[in-house]
Amino acid sequence: MTSRRKPLVLGNWKMHGSIDMAERLLAALARGAAECSGVGLGVCPPYPYLGLAAARLARSAIGWGAQDLSAHVQGAYTGEVSGSMLKDLGCTWVLVGHSERRSLHGESDDTVAAKVERALEVGITPVICVGESLSERQSNATEAVVARQIDAVLPVLTRAERAGDTPCTVVVAYEPVWAIGTGLTATPEQAQQVHAFIRNRLSAGGLGSAARLPILYGGSVKPGNAAELFTQPDVDGGLIGGASLVADDFLSISRAALRRV
Ligand code: PEP
Repeated sequence: MTSRRKPLVLGNWKMHGSIDMAERLLAALARGAAECSGVGLGVCPPYPYLGLAAARLARSAIGWGAQDLSAHVQGAYTGEVSGSMLKDLGCTWVLVGHSERRSLHGESDDTVAAKVERALEVGITPVICVGESLSERQSNATEAVVARQIDAVLPVLTRAERAGDTPCTVVVAYEPVWAIGTGLTATPEQAQQVHAFIRNRLSAGGLGSAARLPILYGGSVKPGNAAELFTQPDVDGGLIGGASLVADDFLSISRAALRRV
């Protein structure tokens, strides 16, 4: 079964690299992106390299985004970066609620929902990250955890939709915490089961665009396992951490998404 959703592959650099590395990686991605023209492509470098990404990728087929944004519009929030600042830098996407933000920085579901709202207000597509820990999976709580995380953002999404926001301005990334950076990957069947659950939950919660919304899989996606994951009908692409730091690997994963079309 082939979906008509355009595949999307996004890279999350996390806190890696240097300006030299960023220059080299951006140049290689800009060169290679042309081979993947049927796939939406984007990278999310650390904040200090966003201006560089904007300069180096502007005329390429690859966009850029940020790894986080403030839950506040503006004000005395030292160290934070607002949605409108990211918009100024031309960001198309912003990751929201990555498991490292949730677990290491104590981001609650309410904070994630506020960040999603801030992103939508300025016209940046939030990439809403959800997923269960290993102990939650082992205790059969995967669906309960993901349902809670999705339900927390649903009111913001349905409100935005009612307000006339165009469909597909939201992306969900299912990232099982036990698969992030571990080399363990969900099986294609495990991923499909949770992706379908997320889509149904969004639809049942009143989001009219649920069928069109891209749901990405993230968690140790590599060139060797991407194609198999992308065969699943509700896996619309990937959120790639470690492998996005190696241009050849990221582009190879993106070509695997292209074969899904
Ligand atoms: C991530 O950080 O979002 C991620 C999926 O990382 P990795 O691909 O390295 O598991």
